[in-house]
Amino acid sequence: MSSSSVGRRLEGKVAIVTGGASGIGASTVQLFHDNGAKVVIADIQDNLGQALSDKLNDNVCYIHCDVSDEDQVRTLVNDTVSKFGHLDIMYNNAGVMNGVFNSIVTTEKKDIERMLSVNLVGAFMGAKHAARVMIPNKKGCILFTASCCTKIGGISTHSYAASKYGIVGLTKNLAAELGFHGIRVNCISPFGVLTGSDIDETKEEYFEKMMSAVGNLKGNVLKAEDIAKAAVYLASDEACYVSGMNFVVDGGYSVVNPTLMKSLKAI
Ligand code: NAD
Repeated sequence: MSSSSVGRRLEGKVAIVTGGASGIGASTVQLFHDNGAKVVIADIQDNLGQALSDKLNDNVCYIHCDVSDEDQVRTLVNDTVSKFGHLDIMYNNAGVMNGVFNSIVTTEKKDIERMLSVNLVGAFMGAKHAARVMIPNKKGCILFTASCCTKIGGISTHSYAASKYGIVGLTKNLAAELGFHGIRVNCISPFGVLTGSDIDETKEEYFEKMMSAVGNLKGNVLKAEDIAKAAVYLASDEACYVSGMNFVVDGGYSVVNPTLMKSLKAI
């Protein structure tokens, strides 16, 4: 990489980030923009999405899109191509979180249906309409946000785990079909990150303490921007031969079983 291209790793590319008004999505919008991409923020939080777009420049815009509604996703992709000419990166990041931990016995059908309709069907529709416009161009990059609950059981609700495991399956299957058209497909699986629109200092302090205690990698707490950096890498030409991967960003949490050492220390 030449020194002049450092920091502009997405120059000339056009991206859509769903769930781009807040958290991981908002950090990614900022970093994609800093790296030279034209970015469409797609979300249902209109005030937040518009404010972020206003803060950046003409190369960023906000479009209201509920990803669980296919017509809105189709329009989002069509409007992006009309405005910016093409689509290179589709980051299907919008999601609804865990909710209350409960037993499968008390999980209601409406809970899993809501989770699947946004986290899985919404991401599926994003990929479908992105592929529709990327296939004729014979290139493109589709990303999803899954979760490290796809690597280890018991850290999320059943509904959330089901929705995110679906994303991993979709990533692999799409990589198989879309590889024939030069399109790469990957997902990112974060550990816990403090996100949402109502963060204050007290919450931040508590979250940092909690994650430092439970996380495997000490001396660091995962931030939304760290996931955005992973997205920039996967979306950039540096990852030109990376496809079908579940890129886990969890500081090793899901590969280490701490119970042996804890048990030995307790003897
Ligand atoms: P967040 O709440 O800050 O952001 C999620 C965004 O998605 C919000 O702006 C929200 O308005 C938007 N959204 C929700 N439903 C939508 C819909 N129907 N249509 C369009 N937009 C919609 O939370 P976040 O942590 O930044 O979440 C981003 C992604 O990361 C989600 O897919 C989440 O499951 C995943 N994730 C988060 C964590 C974490 O610890 N924060 C860990 C693993 C995975």
